[in-house]
Amino acid sequence: MVFPLDSLQDYQLMFKQEHEMLRKSVREFLEREVAPHALEFDDKDEVPREVLRKLGEQGGLWGIGIEENYGGQGGDTISAVIVMEELSRVAPPLAVIRGTNELFSIPILLFGSEELRRKYIPPIARGEAFGAHAMTEPCCGSDAAGIQTRAVKKGDRWVINGRKIFISNADIADYMVVFARTSEPQPNRRWFGITAFVVEKGAQGLKIGTKFEKRGLRGSHAMEVIFDDVEVPDENRVGEVGMGFIIAMETYDRTRVSVAAQGLGMAQAAFERAFQYSFQRTAFGQYLASFEAIQFTLTEMMAELMTARYLVYLAAYLADQGKEEFKYVASLAKFYTTEVAEKIVSKAIDIHGGVGVIHETGIERFLRDVKITEIYEGANNIQRVVAFRQLLRTLTKKGVISQDIAKSIT
Ligand SMILES: Cc1cc2nc3c(=O)[nH]c(=O)nc-3n(C[C@H](O)[C@H](O)[C@H](O)COP(=O)(O)OP(=O)(O)OC[C@H]3O[C@@H](n4cnc5c(N)ncnc54)[C@H](O)[C@@H]3O)c2cc1C
Repeated sequence: MVFPLDSLQDYQLMFKQEHEMLRKSVREFLEREVAPHALEFDDKDEVPREVLRKLGEQGGLWGIGIEENYGGQGGDTISAVIVMEELSRVAPPLAVIRGTNELFSIPILLFGSEELRRKYIPPIARGEAFGAHAMTEPCCGSDAAGIQTRAVKKGDRWVINGRKIFISNADIADYMVVFARTSEPQPNRRWFGITAFVVEKGAQGLKIGTKFEKRGLRGSHAMEVIFDDVEVPDENRVGEVGMGFIIAMETYDRTRVSVAAQGLGMAQAAFERAFQYSFQRTAFGQYLASFEAIQFTLTEMMAELMTARYLVYLAAYLADQGKEEFKYVASLAKFYTTEVAEKIVSKAIDIHGGVGVIHETGIERFLRDVKITEIYEGANNIQRVVAFRQLLRTLTKKGVISQDIAKSIT
């Protein structure tokens, strides 16, 4: 054992030629079609629908990672991560829009009925519709088991009442997966009693409320969502009654590698820009790159970037191999990459000197954007907790540590 993985082979990464072809084609498409407008998204806090349409029709970027059976282009976790990284390198809010599509689709793909999958996934995969994921409430973000939105059964329908906040892209979403309490928590099973439902745009009693004014990831909106006697048929229930918390956790296990990829894309952009700038700008009659202090900074940035890249793609690779270790590696990748990305972006600003904080240079926006990736989809402290618990679970299954000891710790 090469603790905590089984062998050296478990640390290896294998990319196919298709992966590099995908990366190249996505990058070329985004550089051509999106990069010239990326700062406008930030300025106006708006991504034009035309851009979203192009991303689907010409780039085919919404369906990568979704099975062909459900209207997608297929592709593994590595392919999905490549798309997220490249989107974030150029225009982070677009990655958030793809991310909320994943947060909508994954619960349905993993736990929904075949009818739900056939109805809701193909329009998302084709870019004809967008999804949102409504868990967080004023009372509870990290503590998802504490949510207070209620759903009560009335015949063969459910009536939902409550208020959600910070729901990304709820304003453009055609469908939303919503988590609501359907029974009281049980002793020793506080998480039990939450159920997931699909709610469609325009449902009576559904109100998309305030847009939270935020400084990062502008173009993707964090919205208040109010449920005032919103009725959904029982067939819109995702998975079993009372098991919504588990559905959400299984979803986040799979989506947090995408958030890690967001941090990676931003760090990559910042490093490239800082490296290039150090060969353009002169001071004291020399290129910045000729100063040792700048070389040290650039090489440290490179080491952090490469380490982060390894963790992100290792998590994706382990997921594609069906290895349970992907869950804790994804948590490591999420907190490590987003925190290292913040450092890399900050150093890239330093290397640019004064122009680094000028909006038009397009670097400072990454600092505003990357900060949010440390908070959402499981704040980084929570990732540390999740990584440790998942590690214990995996090691217990393998008999490396005893169940009694693991139980006494978690
Ligand atoms: C821009 C944006 C978009 C978002 N999009 C969505 C969305 O689409 N859907 C959705 O449902 N939610 C969304 N969220 C909500 C997001 O997931 C939460 O903000 C996040 O989970 C943290 O919850 P919180 O803000 O309530 O912080 P809190 O839970 O109050 O945590 C505050 C701090 O305390 C720490 N903390 C909390 N508990 C512990 C603990 N047990 N141990 C150690 N530290 C702890 C946290 O790490 C954090 O640093 C979004 C948030 C933002 C900012």
